This record gives sequence, C-alpha cells and structure tokens, in this order.
Amino acid sequence: MEVIALNNSCEYGQPGIFRGHLRFESPRLAGYKWEICEIRGKKPGPRLCICAGIHPNEVSAIEAAVRLQRLFDPENMEGSVSIIPLINQPGLFQYPQYVCPLDGKNIEHTFPGKKDGTFSEALCDAIMNEWCTGADCLIDMHGGDLRENVSKFVMYQHTDDPQHNARGRQIAMCFDAEFVLALPTRFMDKPGTYSPSAFAQNGRLAVLPEAGANGLLTEDTISFFVEGVLNVARTLGIITTPLSEIRNARIHCDDYLWVYCPAGGDFHSAVEPGDRVTKGQRLGTISDLFGETLAELSAPDAGFVLWRITHPSIKEGSFAGAIGIEEN
Ligand SMILES: [Zn+2]
Repeated sequence: MEVIALNNSCEYGQPGIFRGHLRFESPRLAGYKWEICEIRGKKPGPRLCICAGIHPNEVSAIEAAVRLQRLFDPENMEGSVSIIPLINQPGLFQYPQYVCPLDGKNIEHTFPGKKDGTFSEALCDAIMNEWCTGADCLIDMHGGDLRENVSKFVMYQHTDDPQHNARGRQIAMCFDAEFVLALPTRFMDKPGTYSPSAFAQNGRLAVLPEAGANGLLTEDTISFFVEGVLNVARTLGIITTPLSEIRNARIHCDDYLWVYCPAGGDFHSAVEPGDRVTKGQRLGTISDLFGETLAELSAPDAGFVLWRITHPSIKEGSFAGAIGIEEN
C-alpha cells in the first residue's frame, strides 16, 4: 500500500498524527484512495485498526470514526490507532444500500476477498492483508442503513480455539451493547463472510459493532461507537484512562438467524429490536395492497430481535429481520 500525507501530517510510521490518503496495490482498486488517520505513540505497543462506511448510509459509525481521530494523543499512548472512516469509496454521494456500486457486492459479506477478484473482493483482501497486517484487532463499525432499525450489538467469531474466543468476547464486551453475539463456526466456512469470521480463519481478531437506524446521525449511537472503541484501546493497553460505564445487559447470544419473507408485500412488524421472542412467536404479517394477509413471519427459535427492516415493502425472499439466540 502507498500513503500520501497531507500538509499538516507527520511522516507515516513516525510518532505523531498522520493524516493522508491510502492507495492499495491491486490494479482493481486503481483510481480510488481512502482517507486515513493514524495516531502513533512514542512507545511501541498494540495496533488497533478501526473502519466504518462499508455501508455509506450508516452515518453514526462514520461520524464516530471521524471524532475518534481527535481523541488519541500521541504523547499519552502506546502503539498505534489507524482509522479509515469510509471504506466504500465508490458509494460516496451515491447512498447505496448494502452494496458497492461498482460490482453490486455487499462488502460486509465479501471477506476475506481476493486480490484479483472484483472491486469489493480486492478491497476486502487489501483491508486484511495490507492495511490490517500486524493489527491486534480490527473494529468494523456498522448499523442503521436507510431501511433498518438495529439494536446495539457486537459480533465476534467463535472458533475451536478457547483463547481466541475469550479474547473476542473480552473485546466485544468493551461496547455498551444490548447483545454480544458469538458467530457460530459455520460463518467461517462461507466463501464471502463477515470480517470477524475471515480474520478468525487465520487466528486474527476482528469485531463488528452495530447500532443505529434509518441513516440517522444520533449522539446516542455515535457515543456507543466512540466509547466502545476507547474501551477497546484501554483493554489493549494503548491508553490508560478508566473504562467508561456499561449500562446495557450485554446478553450473550451464540447464533444469528435471519428471517426472510416467503411472499412479497407490506411487512407489518409485531416486534422491535431488543424484544425477547419465543420460538414460533409471530414477528409480523405480510399483506398485499388490498390489506389481505399473504403470510405471517414467526421466530425460528427463542431469542432476541437484533434488527428489523422498517420499510414496509419487502420483496419475496428478502430479509425482514434477525434473531440472536441466547447462549445456554
Ligand atoms: Zn453495515
């Protein structure tokens, strides 16, 4: 990767605050550059990478990535913090929901990617193998696209390595979340998957916090991300200020079940993010534009509503929400 410094920046890799742009190696990514801010203490130490804007409408996460750049002081930290506030650069000023406009792929579900693949695939590979090389943890911030309402939750990947699991859980617990979701191991076998799952394939750590609704910038959601990231930096030993207060329950979940609409129509939800549901409980109704019921959606298992789609119109086979299954 290549970095180009702004005028008011320190030299890349030196103690201080680096501000500039990043270009990745793959020819697939030529023509695009990424804003990067990297704050480095005088003492060596852990490296924390933070990104937002894989989904450009998830604006509270992007704003948190901007504010965090001013919250680390090179004089009072060890190691480094590297921040890319907007990953989906082709989506800038396009407001795409979930996808990269160049290839129609959802970058969030494209890890680990591949260097000679499509734009999204090459980008995921570059994030993992160029930018995040040597990182102790990636925090990939999400939540609140235009048509969704999301509870405060954090995902990490469960593996067959108890040490990895304990570390993942510890870092995920740094966020003041309603739910902490350990993704089951089947997520690691998918060809395109979440950053925590792809990082875990190589014994590396990434966590994915989600919060927010409907493309709105809210202080509550911004501070969920900001305080959570600062707590991760404290836990890693990058900074030494006291951990911020946790108010939410951080209920542990160990499975993530999406609920899909069997028929296209208007979805009327009977539940909201955060609600506890029993197995088979009605989640909502799909009706046509005469108001006639076409189908009912029910909970596939007992758990909690992690998020739901807020726009009534949902096409057949598309997702309406997701349930986190409480750990036994
Ligand atoms: Zn997202």
